[in-house]
Amino acid sequence: MNAIDVKNLVKRYGGRAVVDHVTMTVAAGEIVGFLGPNGSGKTTTIRIMCGLLTPDEGEGHVLGYDLRTESLLIKREVGYMTQRFSFYEDLTIGENLEFVARLYKLRPVEEHVATTLEDLGLASRRDQLAGTLSGGWKQRLALAACIMHKPKLLLLDEPTAGVDPKARREFWDEIHRLARGGLTVLVSTHYMDEAERCHRISYISYGKLLATGTVEEVVRNAGLTTFVVSGAGLDQVAEALEGRSGVDQVAPFGATLHVVGSDQAALEAALTDIRDRPGVTVEPGETSLEDVFIQFMAGSRDNMS
Ligand code: ADP
Repeated sequence: MNAIDVKNLVKRYGGRAVVDHVTMTVAAGEIVGFLGPNGSGKTTTIRIMCGLLTPDEGEGHVLGYDLRTESLLIKREVGYMTQRFSFYEDLTIGENLEFVARLYKLRPVEEHVATTLEDLGLASRRDQLAGTLSGGWKQRLALAACIMHKPKLLLLDEPTAGVDPKARREFWDEIHRLARGGLTVLVSTHYMDEAERCHRISYISYGKLLATGTVEEVVRNAGLTTFVVSGAGLDQVAEALEGRSGVDQVAPFGATLHVVGSDQAALEAALTDIRDRPGVTVEPGETSLEDVFIQFMAGSRDNMS
């Protein structure tokens, strides 16, 4: 059974479809990344999936429960982590978790809190005030709170926004550990390295799913060609290439330029005179996931209306 199996979900605000016929499946134990520009409909989709919002159209099952008629049951078995840190800053980690345990009517409270603290490596900080925690520890507390009731599905909305790289890495190690234990995870993120740690990713723009698959599949299916230009005078090369037919993207990467296009022949043609510049080398390069997303986003910087 798929943990998430939804078809043609539509949600409109003021006549505008912010979720536009989204169809998605997530297998049990899978970690799926949800990517897309701000305002593309990720949060709204996630909130529909955890039973907090009713779709205007579409249907589906989450954890085997009907999205429309069994949202209460879904809520009970889903852990949802919102973007905002929503804890009592003047309570300790332990007290915050006790509060959450009572909300979920977990008994005995003390035992659930102790196990969760232990599980997430928070035991030594039990008595620290939540308000004094660093970003990484706050995320860990938020994760602890949303897995304490032992959900089968985790829906994480940009869980690591603003968290430093080391803490992000630890957070993802934790996500993988939980998935190995059978938990299914749908996680929205803006970070490419995080997308690469997912089993599969889905990319959404203006409410529509544009691509789904493994990172390799999404990169391959985008059908882009990339050349790496190195050598002298790269600023002038970039300037010369900008806006040329066949050139969709020109981006500096360290001491090189990545030049990307969707029409290989046109891109090759655009690079002909660059190859002839003294001291400049043009070599075929690997298209990155970031190149693909920038291509998707071209022309639509932001989906906010
Ligand atoms: P994302 O999570 O990808 O940033 P959201 O799902 O938060 O996107 O938002 C998608 C679009 O829907 C945005 O344009 C946002 O302004 C709009 N939107 C979200 N919630 C509401 C609401 N309650 N009322 C009106 N518009 C909304």
